[in-house]
Amino acid sequence: MAQCLSSFRILHSLLMQYRPLGQTGLNVSVLSYGASPLGSVFRDVNENDGIRTVHTALDLGINFIDVSPYYGLTKAETVLGKALKGIARDRYILATKVGRYGDTGGDFDFSAERVTRSVDESLQRLGVDTIDLIQCHDIEYGDLNQIVDETLPALEKLCDAGKVRFIGITGYPLKVFREVLSHATVDTILSYCHYSLNDTSLEELLPFLEEKGVGIISASPLSMGLLTSRGTPSWHPAPAELKEVCAKAVTYCQECGADLSELAVQFAVANPRIATTIVGTANPENIRKNVEWAQSAPDEELLREVREILRPVQNLTWMSGRAENN
Ligand code: NAD
Repeated sequence: MAQCLSSFRILHSLLMQYRPLGQTGLNVSVLSYGASPLGSVFRDVNENDGIRTVHTALDLGINFIDVSPYYGLTKAETVLGKALKGIARDRYILATKVGRYGDTGGDFDFSAERVTRSVDESLQRLGVDTIDLIQCHDIEYGDLNQIVDETLPALEKLCDAGKVRFIGITGYPLKVFREVLSHATVDTILSYCHYSLNDTSLEELLPFLEEKGVGIISASPLSMGLLTSRGTPSWHPAPAELKEVCAKAVTYCQECGADLSELAVQFAVANPRIATTIVGTANPENIRKNVEWAQSAPDEELLREVREILRPVQNLTWMSGRAENN
């Protein structure tokens, strides 16, 4: 049985493609696993289903997992910790975050003291000795000078102490990456909802990011539910027009006997300049489908038709964080 399982894993890691993550020396699967759904952020999630989803992702060749203390207010990290218990540490590259602990301005704290304590708390919840990638979470809600002068140096100390290996920043407005990278060095950036069927604005920033040598991580290929038949949760920040047009594209695909989510995953992972694309789900069947889709080419004609439907809302965006960071 054990031998059978290991042959299964070898086969899947041969099918999965891996790309270098900037200059970290890490090779990450082109499709990776986002654990926010383990915190029940999209719907109430059964913990066992969540754990099975993590195991399925790893068995299918995914080797990069992203989480945050913010997701489900520590629930996602706690469930992920349970899922990773007993799994060989070299089977996964683990990324989590610091600085965001809720939704209001007061729930962000990028001070050296808080982020240092946060890493210890995450290590505990995740049940590991080292976090591979620690990221400042949604920096547009913070003071970018503080990120450069206080937060990143505090994380570098944790690197020296062996608690974390690499450092990154995450955020929604693309402007924040340019700002911070003009004054500091980080190993990775994580952008979300900016490289998917309805929004490819990350493309414009790629030459700058490549010049800086950072690893490029793109999250939310399904635009946090816009490109799925279930649609979006109530907190989804997209303007109504974007939700309506994406719903039209979902219906169009259904009428053609296709699934817009399939096209969306295929589109997102196809760009070789993006090291990995993080998709979130707490459903083992969905992660299995996502991996299968990531390993096949899109239907080019349907892709053209869907992009035409989405054209009126292409790159339509929303505000996130402080006005000066948008
Ligand atoms: P996503 O685009 O991956 O969409 C997730 C939604 O799609 C969920 O409702 C999920 O149930 C559904 N879904 C997944 N697979 C499906 C399938 N095969 N068929 C139908 N529906 C499917 O958005 P996301 O989860 O927000 O992003 C992925 C991950 O990226 C997150 O879990 C998180 O780890 C990371 N992320 C980070 C940031 C940040 O750091 N600021 C922001 C967004 C996302």
